[in-house]
Amino acid sequence: MTDLTHPIYHDEEKAREHFEAIRWPEGRVCPHCGEVDNSTLLQGKSHRPGLYKCKGCEKPFTATMGTVFESSKLPLNKWLLAVHLMVSSKKGISAAQLQRNLGLGSYRTAWFVAHRIREAMRQGELQPPMGGGGGDVEADETFIGRDPDAPQSRTPFRNMCKVLTLVDRKTGHARSFVINHLNTATLAPILRENIAREARLITDEAGHYRGIGKEFAAHGSVAHARDEYVSREDPTINTQTIEGFFAIFKRGMRGIYQHCSKHHLHRYMAEFDFRYSNRIAKGVDDDERAVRALAGTVGKRLKYQRPHGQAAALSS
Ligand SMILES: [Zn+2]
Repeated sequence: MTDLTHPIYHDEEKAREHFEAIRWPEGRVCPHCGEVDNSTLLQGKSHRPGLYKCKGCEKPFTATMGTVFESSKLPLNKWLLAVHLMVSSKKGISAAQLQRNLGLGSYRTAWFVAHRIREAMRQGELQPPMGGGGGDVEADETFIGRDPDAPQSRTPFRNMCKVLTLVDRKTGHARSFVINHLNTATLAPILRENIAREARLITDEAGHYRGIGKEFAAHGSVAHARDEYVSREDPTINTQTIEGFFAIFKRGMRGIYQHCSKHHLHRYMAEFDFRYSNRIAKGVDDDERAVRALAGTVGKRLKYQRPHGQAAALSS
């Protein structure tokens, strides 16, 4: 684990230098007009620290402009510490824990800090499709918490929130989607958009994968209903990678995030996807993971939202 006494976690100036180096690896870019390395630091008591003035368009800017940190009152060094704590705890960290570790005044602030960081962890649009070049992509679904939109059913899982996850075996990346229905109409567009045609799709035997499976180079399935998790004919047809992902996700959600409403579930999924896709087994250590999360703060904004909705009770 990284040294949490490092100055970037305690000194706002050092934190800003660290963040600037991540945000502007090839020179300071004016967010207004795009000029590179053509700005001066505004000094003097009337200016807040880290304020630059572009010589091209003459507008002022800071490194946090246009990031999830923009207009936050929390000092940047505390943001960096929060990011570090979130990326380095395998199962996640509760808002209450974050509140204690950062010395924050209220639970609400800690909750909001955590959600902004989840937004930074969210993968941007226009990700390349998974399984490009003919790789294997596992797809499966899991159920968590109560879905307030689901019609009442005697079958327990039908009343729960539904999550579809895709894992690219070669890159080790995971992508999760909160879905309303478990049917072809819902799943097919997600699979088409996120998996390369030349990939081999691997799923269980569920009917909703059958038709869409034909659109890929190959479709292998295991019969979960018959307790088959590895195909007897071809052992490479299995869903063990994705089951490993769900195991970490479930442990985290049960232990740390007991009260997660459906409304916010997609952000928790982004957090678990991010940590899994940038895990230690893939050579990404805590520091590197933090740098990647900080790079992800750019171009994302999160409007203030009260935590609302019924807190969903978790079941497995
Ligand atoms: Zn400019």
